[in-house]
Formats: sequence, C-alpha cells, structure tokens
Amino acid sequence: MFRLIHRLGLSPAEVKAACSAINRFRGYGVTCDAIAMGESAVRKVKMGRQFLETLGPDGPVRINSANFLMPRLGTEFADVMQQTSPIIGIGLTYEPILLSVHGPRDQAEQKVIGAGRYRGGAFVTVSGLREFFGFRPDTGEYAMHQKSAIDAVELAVCHEVGHVLIESYGRSMENLREEWHCNHPQCLMQETSDIAHFVEHAVKARLNFCKECARRIRMEVETLRRDSEEYD
Ligand SMILES: [Zn+2]
Ligand SMILES: [Zn+2]
Repeated sequence: MFRLIHRLGLSPAEVKAACSAINRFRGYGVTCDAIAMGESAVRKVKMGRQFLETLGPDGPVRINSANFLMPRLGTEFADVMQQTSPIIGIGLTYEPILLSVHGPRDQAEQKVIGAGRYRGGAFVTVSGLREFFGFRPDTGEYAMHQKSAIDAVELAVCHEVGHVLIESYGRSMENLREEWHCNHPQCLMQETSDIAHFVEHAVKARLNFCKECARRIRMEVETLRRDSEEYD
C-alpha cells in the first residue's frame, strides 16, 4: 500500500535505504514497491497527479503549509484517505524541500528534511544529508561516513512515513498548538531542529518508535488495510 517514487539522480544506495525504511513497517502489515518517477509511477496513488506535480522532474519540492498545517494537519489528508486510490506515495528527491511557512512562495521558505501527510503521502529529500556528509556525485557515495549517511536517509524516510500513519499528538495546553511530534525522548517521532541535530541525536542513537507510536501505527495500518481490501 506504499510506493516509493524517486527522482532519477538518486544513488542506488539512497533508494535502497528508503525502501528499507518503508519495509521496516512490514511487521505492521505494510507492503511497498519502488519506482522511478513518471506518469505510470502514480497509477492508483492517492492524489497521483498532484503528487507528481509536487515531486516534479527537477528543482526544489515546494510545500505550502497552508495546504496541510491549517486548521489542522491532515485536513486535506483526511479527505484523501477517503479516496479509493489505494497506494500512498512516498516521494524521494535530492533537491531541497522548501516549506513555505505562511503560504505563497514569496514568503519565508524553510529547508526541511521531509514533509509527511502532504499530497496524500510524504516527501523526503537527501539534499541536506548530502551536504552534511559530503556526497560525491562522481562516485555516488558519501565522502564521509557512508554508513551513517545511508542510515540517516533510512531514518528520515521512516520518520516521515510515521507522520503519514500517526495523525497528531493532540494539542499542547498552553498555546493550543497542534503537536506533530512525540515527546518521548527515545522516539524516532520526536522533533529535531536541523540536520546536525537529527544526525547527532536520531541517527547515532538509532532511534525507533516508542510503544505508543508503534501502537498508533499498528491501528492506522489496520484501517488502511481494510480500506484497500474493500477497494480490491
Ligand atoms: Zn517530523
Ligand atoms: Zn513516540
């Protein structure tokens, strides 16, 4: 029910790491295939056309927070989940993902590792990790710490798939802000501020989902599976 849709230009190791990330959810009953982007890649994918437009053939992936953060994460997504197309796309790119915080493009854009629950699926980039670990296009490898870099790609994809499967963590009491991240200190779904923090914290500690996140994921996969069986 998941499909990794990747741009051409990613290294085989990066694509493989992203697939292993999705395959980590196998224990929950998730299935996954991988395909290079193109018209046929989005067949039966939720919001397929918009998904393809967002991933694009080149250039940064632009995420408009107005489409999914307000009034609550996944408003659009909840509608999408009702659609009959059974496959959830996970887009992988090597160019930046730019999150526009206030809507239109001319306002502040922020580089992010990924965006979950957008266009019916999620998007992840290796752009920041390539910079951090010194990716060498000539060899298709990372100059430093190839293994850590590849682990980081895997964990980044895992985190975004987690967002797809976990709706939200409720609202914080003081400012009624919706919480998108888990506050368990050993959970992969906690918030990390930037690439360095993510690598230092999540990758080195090989974080995984905490018990509560694992429970939510299991429940959501159950629902998705029922829905896609109805579709078949
Ligand atoms: Zn997150
Ligand atoms: Zn958690």
